[in-house]
Amino acid sequence: MQIVIAAAEAAPFVKTGGLGDVAGSLPRALVEAGADVIVMVPKYASIPDEYKSRMTHMCDFYVPLGWRNEYCGLERLDQDGVTYLFVDNEHYFNRSYPYGFFDDGERFAFFSKAICESLQHLPEGFQCDVLNCNDWHTALAPVFLREFYQGLPLYERVKTVFSIHNIAFQGQYSDAILNDILGLAHIPNAARQLRCDDRSINFMLGGLHYADAITTVSPTYAAEIQTPEYGEGLDGVLRERSISLQGILNGIDTDAWNPATDPMICANYSVDDMSGKAACKRAIQEELGLEVRDDRPLMVMITRLTRQKGMDLVTYALDRILSGGVQVAILGTGDYEEPVRYFANKYPGTCAARITFDNALSHRMYAGADMFLMPSLFEPCGLSQMIAMRYGTLPVVRETGGLRDTVQPYNQFTGEGTGFSFANFNGEEMGDAVFRGARLFWDDRAEFDKLVHNAMTRDFSWAKSAHAYIDLYRWLRPDTDAYPPVV
Ligand code: ADP
Repeated sequence: MQIVIAAAEAAPFVKTGGLGDVAGSLPRALVEAGADVIVMVPKYASIPDEYKSRMTHMCDFYVPLGWRNEYCGLERLDQDGVTYLFVDNEHYFNRSYPYGFFDDGERFAFFSKAICESLQHLPEGFQCDVLNCNDWHTALAPVFLREFYQGLPLYERVKTVFSIHNIAFQGQYSDAILNDILGLAHIPNAARQLRCDDRSINFMLGGLHYADAITTVSPTYAAEIQTPEYGEGLDGVLRERSISLQGILNGIDTDAWNPATDPMICANYSVDDMSGKAACKRAIQEELGLEVRDDRPLMVMITRLTRQKGMDLVTYALDRILSGGVQVAILGTGDYEEPVRYFANKYPGTCAARITFDNALSHRMYAGADMFLMPSLFEPCGLSQMIAMRYGTLPVVRETGGLRDTVQPYNQFTGEGTGFSFANFNGEEMGDAVFRGARLFWDDRAEFDKLVHNAMTRDFSWAKSAHAYIDLYRWLRPDTDAYPPVV
């Protein structure tokens, strides 16, 4: 089975968020599951030189884009069994950031068309079975593939998957580009499917209408985006295509996030010997200027300080939580920096704020905390709650999207669970969930520790999800096989 994954970013080459994480780690997991994988990414100026110097020029050709013919080079780099092809065009991609330019529509229309053209220039022996596009930047590839390339034998066999990582960004542009750039104005079906109002077209709509299958990053989010509340205007088309829509959970990099080997934390620990976690807690309390006390539950947040992440609930409930004896430490940047600073000043020794992005500090906080707060308004998948559980830090989450799918709420009758949760976007309910955790910490430490054990032994690796993707690809292309033959 030969898979091409196309994305606007892929770690470690270029990453601005969750899409970069997924496009960085899923391909490796697919290779381990037996597939051949090529990842296509733009060659941005911001890609570090250590990678650029390892790229080799594979070929170049011209890509038809409306009335233009644009140069496209393919630069190849092999790493961890995955072949990366960087799409080179100085005009579009030789810029220091991936996004945020006036011509982003044109840039990613070019990228999508370049992906289609590239399928006939892949390394020898590689024939694309499934093209998996991600988010609006590559959403036009399934459209172009069907409207311009169908009928050519090489393309006839290619099936397409469109994966939604963030439905809030859809790539909406003036419909003037339908003719000028996309060359689709004279194809009434395409023009109709892309249109979102009198004057605009929407790239993501193209992916949703044209891809053979659609995925998103958790089963609950797959259901939620079919409702007006979460669908950002696309719930109608998602409902129409619901039979082809599937939610597959993201995994985390279990090597980078491993308390047993993590070199960034003060003492390593595992389910078999938890003494290191107590040392980590003392160290982080000291580092953050909190009272060094084991009888105080320490709850942390490591997040963008935005509305999406539930910061309205946090600012509403923090007085109650802090005066109730729970220590809180917040690491993050964003719109809510001022209120976070306010609470840190008001409750010295009990509340700490670090308004910065600091990966090493985040490791120390995941390791040293007892609880992790993530009360999101919406959450397609979420990685932080999985990282927290891996470090034996019990998440307190709102039951939405991937949070609902990954955190099993504590059941006091069976003792099962990996964290605490609440349903409604309400500050009192969030406070109640926090105190369910804190009470257990104070009143029944053995039961609390059992939940810690449950959380740490959950499997959040990519392996399971990679197999779910392979099953989907196989459903689209039953004639291919990814799993190595059993001898
Ligand atoms: P998002 O919606 O921001 O992608 P996720 O939970 O999926 O949320 O992933 C967030 C990732 O970014 C996690 O790995 C988290 O540890 C990290 N992170 C967020 N804010 C910070 C910060 N200020 N410093 C260090 N790491 C951070």
